[in-house]
Amino acid sequence: VSWQCDFIFRRIALRLGIFGGTFDPIHNGHLRAAEEVAEQLKLNKVLFIPSANPPHRMPPEASPHHRWAMTCLAVGGNSVFYGSDLEIKRPGKSYTVDTLSAISRQFPRAKKYLIMGADQSLALPLWHQAELLPRYCRIVVMTRPGITLSEFFSSMREYPKWFNRRNVQLLQVSALDISSTEIRKRIKQNRSIRYLVPKEVMQYISRHRLYLAK
Ligand code: ATP
Ligand code: MG
Repeated sequence: VSWQCDFIFRRIALRLGIFGGTFDPIHNGHLRAAEEVAEQLKLNKVLFIPSANPPHRMPPEASPHHRWAMTCLAVGGNSVFYGSDLEIKRPGKSYTVDTLSAISRQFPRAKKYLIMGADQSLALPLWHQAELLPRYCRIVVMTRPGITLSEFFSSMREYPKWFNRRNVQLLQVSALDISSTEIRKRIKQNRSIRYLVPKEVMQYISRHRLYLAK
C-alpha cells in the first residue's frame, strides 16, 4: 500500500504540514497544536520530523533512534499525522532548508506549510539560509504560552524584509503549557508525566529508562 500512497501523493496537490522539532520527547503540546493547525488549514498530511543534530541548541538527551521511535508511537492512530525520518537519516547538521528541498522533490505538487511554535519563530531569521525558506513554503507560527503576541509582532518588525505577513502567518491554538524540558525535569525528580505525553510514549520512556538522573 505504501508505494501506492507515494504514487498518489506525488500527483495530487496535497496540503502538507511540515513540523520539525527535537521531540525530546514529543508531547501533547506538540500533538494538540499540530491538530489545530491541520484543522484550520485543512491539511491532508502533517509530517513530524525529529532533527538529528539541531544546530541552534544543546544536543538532545535521548538518541535520534529513541526520539524517532517515540514520534512514531505518538502519531500512530491519527490518519493525518506521519513521522518522517528524513533528518534522522541525513548526516551532519539538520538544516530545515535541506529538509524542505528534499520534501519538494518528494512531493513536487504539494502546497507546503512549515509549522513552528512562536518561541521558535523568534530565532527563525537567524537560521541557515533562512531567506530561502519562503521559496519552498508558507511559514505557520502557532501561539505558545510564554511568548506574547507583541513579542512576536515586534520580532516581525525587527527582522529581515522577507519575515513579513506575506510569508509568515500566525495561528491561534489552545495554549497547552507543556514543554519537553519540563517533562525531562519531572522524570529526573521521579514525578508523573501522565497526560502530558501519549500513553505509548510514557510507556516507552519508562521501558527504556530515558531521562533519568545521570
Ligand atoms: P524543549 O523544552 O526541549 O525545547 P519543546 O517542548 O520546546 O522542547 P521542541 O521539540 O523544541 O519542544 O519543539 C518543536 C516545535 O514545537 C517548536 O517549533 C516549538 O515551538 C513547538 N512547540 C513545542 N511545544 C509547544 C506547545 N506546547 N504549544 C505550541 N507549540 C509548541
Ligand atoms: Mg523548544
